[in-house]
Parts: sequence; structure tokens; C-alpha cells
Amino acid sequence: MSKIAFIGLGNMGLPMARNLITAGHSVTGFDLVAEVVEALVAAGGTAAESAEATLDGADIAITMLPAGPQVASVYGASIIGKAAPGTLLIDCSTIDVATARKVAGDAEAAGYEMIDAPVSGGTGGAEAGTLTFMVGGPDAAVAKARPYLDVMGGNIVHAGGAGNGQAVKICNNMILGINMIGVCEGFNMGEKLGVDPQTIFDVVSTSSGSSWAVNNYCPVPGPVPTSPANRDYQAGFTAAMMTKDLHLAQDAAESCDASTIMGRRAAELFDQFIESGNGESDFSGIMKMIKGV
Ligand code: NAD
Repeated sequence: MSKIAFIGLGNMGLPMARNLITAGHSVTGFDLVAEVVEALVAAGGTAAESAEATLDGADIAITMLPAGPQVASVYGASIIGKAAPGTLLIDCSTIDVATARKVAGDAEAAGYEMIDAPVSGGTGGAEAGTLTFMVGGPDAAVAKARPYLDVMGGNIVHAGGAGNGQAVKICNNMILGINMIGVCEGFNMGEKLGVDPQTIFDVVSTSSGSSWAVNNYCPVPGPVPTSPANRDYQAGFTAAMMTKDLHLAQDAAESCDASTIMGRRAAELFDQFIESGNGESDFSGIMKMIKGV
């Protein structure tokens, strides 16, 4: 069993770390928020006073942080050059491709093996250990990481070299953001035409309009009891995070001259949603804006 440093114990990181503990690993965690570190301890983990302190004796360091600036700063100040030689570095955050490649390059230059391994599957997937990991990095590092990723996920896809995990993740989330808005528009229009939302769900979830946003994360209360719509859109995956990813997608599209007309419109709509004070709402709460509430 391994000694794992886990930095970033938020909505995703905490349940991922808990699964590693359940699998028998020793996990030492750090987060800026004391309560989530206490929750890790309650699950059998160990608290550290700082990001750097998690690395003491660690075989592996896993990060699950909000965005590129936090990843660059935590790796730059607290991991690269501080972790023992041979420590395997795994960043599971969703960040921009350029930062992922820069941090991986710095880690490699300092003698570490590093992979980017962003995830899909939401907090439900994190709890259940069924996340999809999209992995970028050298074959040997991916092979070493796989047994740990297997504990936290059900589907591990090696997408290529450093940063390619982030590239696939950004494509996925742009599709999800666009799709969620479409799902909200369809359910809202159906209701206005006098159809019960459960009936819309029964048809769409088994028809050509089905998608993860409908079947697993339906944005109206009722049809999918675990979806945030049943708890007044408590996140889940925040609208702020989705907006971040849609802008990462726009930056990536510009860098490779890809046409993303719907992706751009989705970013604008999510900007509007969070500018009206909904950044901490679940992203499926954009239903309220579509409904005009
Ligand atoms: P979150 O905000 O709940 O968790 C991030 C945690 O990082 C917070 O607890 C925060 O205190 C901590 N943190 C920030 N800076 C830190 C630092 N310098 N040192 C230590 N801890 C620090 O976010 P989340 O929902 O867990 O998402 C994490 C990442 O996973 C994001 O990049 C997000 O885009 C991605 N993601 C989230 C979901 C989801 O459904 N929530 C799904 C897939 C991917």
C-alpha cells in the first residue's frame, strides 16, 4: 500500500481521497479550508499543515485544485523541488493545456514523472469511484499511475503526451455546457406547451435527444432524484467552474483556429448566469435563467 499526498479536498478531491483510503492507502491531505481536512481525518486520513507537509514520505502526490493559477502556484512553490526524487505527480484538476504542459515540463526537468489526469463524472462519480480519467503524459508514468486511478475511476483513457488529458477534458466540457443549455431549453419549452416534465424525461431519456445531462443530471426536479435540481441546484459542479471550462475551451479554440460557435454562445450565457450572482449554484441551475426566474 502506498503513501499518498492529496492537495485540494473540495467537492471532488475529498471523495476521491476517501476512496484511496478505503482501498487501503495512507492518505495525507491539505486544503485551505480546515473543515474538509477534518472530514478527511474523519475518514481515516491524516491532516498536514501545508501542501509541502503532505509530501513527507509520499510515493505519490495528487492535486485536485480549482484552476491553472492554483496548479502553477502549488507545483511551483510546494511540490517541484520539494517532493522526494521519484515521487509520481498526478494533477487531476481541469486547467488550460498551456499551464498543464508548462508544469509537466518543469516537473520533468526537475526529475519527476508527471501526468495530467482530469476527470469526468461529477461528484457522484467521485463518490462511487467511477470517474473517467483523461490522461496525458509518458507511457511509463501512466502505467505507474493506473492502479491508483483505477481505485478512483472506472475508465482510464491515455490521450497522448503532456496536456492531452486537458485537451480532451475541455472538448468534453464544452459539449456538456452546450448540451445542458439545450436540455434546459427543451424541458422549459415542453412544460410551457403543457407537457409534464416526467413525460418529457421518459421520452427524451430513451430517445435520440438523450445525453448525460438528461439521463444522469436532469435539470428539473423529479425524474433523476440525485440531480442538483432536487436540492435547489446546490453544487455539484458549480456554474463558476463550468464558465471557467467554457472560457478554457474558447482559448483553446483560438489557439488552434477551431470554429466553436455554440461553445462561444454557451460561454456568454454562463457569463450572464454567474454575473447575476449564481457562480456557486450548480451549473444545471442555468435552468432558472432559461425559465426567466
Ligand atoms: P472545489 O472548489 O470544491 O475544490 C477545490 C479545492 O481546492 C477547495 O477545497 C480549495 O479550498 C482548494 N484549494 C484551492 N487553492 C488551494 C491551495 N493553494 N492549496 C490547497 N488547496 C487549495 O472544486 P471541485 O468541484 O472539487 O473541482 C476541482 C477541479 O475538478 C476543478 O478543476 C474542476 O473544474 C474539476 N472538476 C470538477 C467536477 C465537479 O463535478 N465538481 C467534475 C469534473 C472536474
